[in-house]
Amino acid sequence: MSKVVMNHGAGGEIMQEFLSKHIVSHFPKSKSDVPLDSMDDSAVVDDIVFTIDGHTVNPLIFPGGDIGRISVSGTVNDISVMGATPLALACSVILEEGLDIDTVDLVMESMGRTSRECGVPIVTGDTKVMETGAVDKMVISTSAIGKRSEFMDSNLSIASEYRTVRDRWCTDANLAPGDVIIASGYLGDHGVALLSFREGYGFESRIRSDVAPLNRMIAKGLAAGGITAMKDPTRGGLANTLNEWCSKSHAEIEVEQASIPLRDEVISACDLLGIDPLSIGNEGKVIIGCVPDRAEDILKAIRGTPEGRDASIIGTVREGKERVILKTEIGGRRILEPPSGDPVPRIC
Ligand code: MG
Repeated sequence: MSKVVMNHGAGGEIMQEFLSKHIVSHFPKSKSDVPLDSMDDSAVVDDIVFTIDGHTVNPLIFPGGDIGRISVSGTVNDISVMGATPLALACSVILEEGLDIDTVDLVMESMGRTSRECGVPIVTGDTKVMETGAVDKMVISTSAIGKRSEFMDSNLSIASEYRTVRDRWCTDANLAPGDVIIASGYLGDHGVALLSFREGYGFESRIRSDVAPLNRMIAKGLAAGGITAMKDPTRGGLANTLNEWCSKSHAEIEVEQASIPLRDEVISACDLLGIDPLSIGNEGKVIIGCVPDRAEDILKAIRGTPEGRDASIIGTVREGKERVILKTEIGGRRILEPPSGDPVPRIC
């Protein structure tokens, strides 16, 4: 009998296959605008944007954040990248018997602070306790609802001045040849900071997690107008995001390695640990696809926010095979494969 393995939850190709075969296939199909089987960041049902996330971070508190900040930020970001405004959050907390109550207070205080920071209240929840060993310290699931952003109609009508836009939401299938790809800032910080702290490598003194809610930055981008797709490059990182976009939008993406924002410390840490910084999960970044004529204005709008000041254009979408081409710094080209799983487990 086959068993569940860590890669079934690691965000790469193995997880995608597992989800389609063993989870999604058992559920009835829905006719919503963005249904379950589109496997996007959120679903859309009668114009209500709806999502849920489970968080199993180890350790609970790490340089730059904690499981509470991740659980609010990640869920707010999944709603926002659809082109929606998050309205309210729900949280389910499962605690291990024996956990210090001071730790519970620390994490919940952080959830409260992050909720105030992004302006999205936590309005309902549930708490359960399991016996020692039945759960690792604390697991938090957060869900959220959102409504269509006030800027979404004008955003898409600006994009429609340049080309036909397929979807009413910023879905993974909404890119078209010609679109430009923007990264909102440095990639790889979260995964490297957490892994390094957990394993005692010492890089975390210079690299901190980027975990942050991005709803305000995303609203600025939508207000500028011309965005067609957005995704937060969490598990599986940029490599997973771009490969999902290629297969769902039936296009090829070419990215310029030299334009991808990567800190020197992240590059050297990844070299040493033998992991690819483009396959590591981020918790405070968004990848944006937009019509080319609007890219500079969108870039300017998001660079004007604290979370987006290091944003840059990293690539373009074109007709071709459903694959990601990485143009290397010495002028070569290689395929950026979808990761089979996140090289760093339990970081979100
Ligand atoms: Mg997401």
